[in-house]
Amino acid sequence: MGLTVTIIGRPNVGKSTLFNRLVGHRLALVDDTPGVTRDRREGEAALGDLRFRVIDTAGLDEAASGSLGARMQEQTARALAGADVALFLIDARTGVTPLDRHFADGLRRGKAPVVLVANKAEGRAGESGLLDAFELGLGEPVAISAEHGEGMAELFAALSPFAAAPETAVSEGPGEAGEDRPLQLAIIGRPNVGKSTLVNRLLGEERVLTGPEAGITRDAIATLWQWRGRKVRLIDTAGLRRRPKVEEKLEKLSVAETLRAIRFAEVVVLVLDAMQGLEKQDLTIAEMVEEEGRALVLAVNKWDLVEDRQAALRRVKGRLETSLPQLQGVRLVTLSALSGAGLARLMPAVIETHEAWNRRISTPRLNRWLVRVQDRHPPPLVSGRRLKLRYMAQANIRPPTFALFASKPGDLPETYRRYLVNLLREDFDLPGVPIRMMLRKGKNPFAGE
Ligand code: GDP
Repeated sequence: MGLTVTIIGRPNVGKSTLFNRLVGHRLALVDDTPGVTRDRREGEAALGDLRFRVIDTAGLDEAASGSLGARMQEQTARALAGADVALFLIDARTGVTPLDRHFADGLRRGKAPVVLVANKAEGRAGESGLLDAFELGLGEPVAISAEHGEGMAELFAALSPFAAAPETAVSEGPGEAGEDRPLQLAIIGRPNVGKSTLVNRLLGEERVLTGPEAGITRDAIATLWQWRGRKVRLIDTAGLRRRPKVEEKLEKLSVAETLRAIRFAEVVVLVLDAMQGLEKQDLTIAEMVEEEGRALVLAVNKWDLVEDRQAALRRVKGRLETSLPQLQGVRLVTLSALSGAGLARLMPAVIETHEAWNRRISTPRLNRWLVRVQDRHPPPLVSGRRLKLRYMAQANIRPPTFALFASKPGDLPETYRRYLVNLLREDFDLPGVPIRMMLRKGKNPFAGE
């Protein structure tokens, strides 16, 4: 039997939108048998290589009578019967409502495992709702935008462990459950920088587990391969491994395609042409990676053509420092995709960056750090009083997201916030990884315990 996933949540959180996104163009089976209430839709969903049955309970919103509480209880129970996992949706923009809490209570008591999903989290609009979501006691929320298709890789990661399908549950290689999930890697860059050459060389050197899988996103192709025993799903933008080019270079960078590849990836390798250095368009792509919260590695390709290597490296580094401060320390690998020189350093950099992106720093460590940092460089005075940074916790990983509680968060200058982020990056070794810092008003939530 395959996996069955039920989407649950109060009206208007986006259940149907998520359902439609998961089911896509595949037929949604609506039970039309007379006498059967049309209160749920079922469909075959695809997410990465996961295939599962998904049930949308949106129709339940209007169903049944009785008190709201009773209705919700009944609804939850019915929707969960037969489900392997519940996707519990909340609206990250609205934050947690009493009705959400009601649902959460029922879910916590139920048997089905729950994946908490904070929907409508496109851009940064949902950050505060995301933080609220922790209070539901259902673990770490997965931030998505069902409408914009964001967060699907995270959703995939959250659901994968429940899939018993041999495809995802193969246990080759060592240990940890997480280790077995393929690392999602995208190789992107402007036309002609050498992406295809690089992909071919990478795949040529290591074992390919499956060939191109179409349809990961609309235009992308993915290949599952293995790098030193580590599974990697490599996402190419459309036509990347195309036949040798006949007509050179009328090609333009497709921003939409690039963005889709970024969204599906965990780590993005941005390929640069060493002869051209870091151009404006490269910076734009790097910024997109940062905004999407993905981890970045820079591959400076065609290194074989460079004569003054030190000068070239200095140029790229200088440009990075001034134009991309939000991704400081990003790993830079110089290589020649054509000859293979330097290639051996690429995947180790990818894996290290992936680890940093997944890193969880314990709350005690963070708070000891916070005390030290404030001693070294106290926050500014605001109308004669010292601003107090009281407490800090890592609210999320992928990318590392921190919640900082302060007496008056609105008064914390941007420069100080940036100072904190940069120090965090250095002290906890988070190079090339976007860092999110949410400021909240409040005391140490655990102080009284
Ligand atoms: P894509 O458009 O990014 O996929 O670029 P291609 O992989 O098609 O490469 C564009 C051109 O650059 C081709 O003529 C490649 O042979 C050449 N090229 C790619 N990598 C290197 C490299 O490391 N050194 C040199 N000298 N040429 C390269």
